[in-house]
Amino acid sequence: MKFIDEYQDSKLARGLARKIAQRSTKTIRVMEFCGGHTHAILRYGIRQLVPKTVEMKSGPGCPVCVTATADLDKAIALAHLPDVIIATFGDMIRVPGSYSSLQQAKAKGADIRIVYSTTDAVEIAKDNPEKSVIFIGIGFETTAPTIAASILKAQREQIRNFYVLPLNKLTPPVMKVLLDSGEVKIDGIVCPGHVSVVIGSHPYEFIPRDYGVGCVISGFEPLDILLCIDRLVEQIEKGEPKVEIAYRRGVKPEGNRKALQLMEDVFEIGEANWRGIGIVPKSGLKIRAKYERFDADKAFSVSLKPPKEPKGCRCGDVIRGAATPLECRLFRKTCTPESPVGPCMVSGEGACAAHYQYGIPENLQDF
Ligand code: SF4
Repeated sequence: MKFIDEYQDSKLARGLARKIAQRSTKTIRVMEFCGGHTHAILRYGIRQLVPKTVEMKSGPGCPVCVTATADLDKAIALAHLPDVIIATFGDMIRVPGSYSSLQQAKAKGADIRIVYSTTDAVEIAKDNPEKSVIFIGIGFETTAPTIAASILKAQREQIRNFYVLPLNKLTPPVMKVLLDSGEVKIDGIVCPGHVSVVIGSHPYEFIPRDYGVGCVISGFEPLDILLCIDRLVEQIEKGEPKVEIAYRRGVKPEGNRKALQLMEDVFEIGEANWRGIGIVPKSGLKIRAKYERFDADKAFSVSLKPPKEPKGCRCGDVIRGAATPLECRLFRKTCTPESPVGPCMVSGEGACAAHYQYGIPENLQDF
């Protein structure tokens, strides 16, 4: 297939869904680890297309959602420091922290700017030399190289007022944590497409080897996802779990060497705090000592009260796949996209927002 609309061909999709149904004899559960996949799966009604033997769960794939409340509280505290500009991706601004949000901080006078790329944040620093510009560095392996590039750019151009709050997270370690916990039994993993463009397929190899769980890297169109499920069903039916790439137009086994090099140069692996999961060793990226003058954690000190989770919100359970948004008592009642209680309803990649939008049949996307 050459054109993107061919990956949305409904006749081919239904044929593939029939093939999956013919193959599938065992009841299995597959989990996607990418907020983009969560939205595509719900948007195109993939859960309704696959046979009842295939249960689909969402995992910790939304970068805004997995950002721990304590880290968000730190970003809000930094925003209140004098002469500081916070630069952040849009979704973060509306996520409720323990006592406030970035949006509320902005309403009280904090200088918070929404950016669409890390380059924008560097430009803000260039334009405001008398201020300190702190970029809230959330995201997975997909955004880490761009954040690394922004630090190198600031270094090259001797921009001394640019900082990053390093909150980047790594996908394979959190997959391991979920598999180790056994809280949710997983037979197959729909591996993230964009993350895998950067890291390739090799980092998932421990999963079939140590856990007997199949891994297939998927693209984002309906046929990509159905093809991924077909491959997973075949692996599980045959009892031959392995790592496969069903997104060959985007992913190479070795990943993107240049992006990996950028990450390696600027970051080192450290622990990260995940909402709903806690501190996971070796699952985060910290700024290396040679670039520490760009590290907001080192350059600024803020005092924080103990973090509090939003009352009644089950985002932590939703992120681990231990509950669906429909099992949260606040869903569609007090928690809506206009008045979100937790990050999973704020973010464009959050499972609650996706269930809210596409849980209504007329909102499903025809293809
Ligand atoms: Fe949290 Fe709202 Fe999702 Fe419930 S519906 S888990 S309150 S974001």
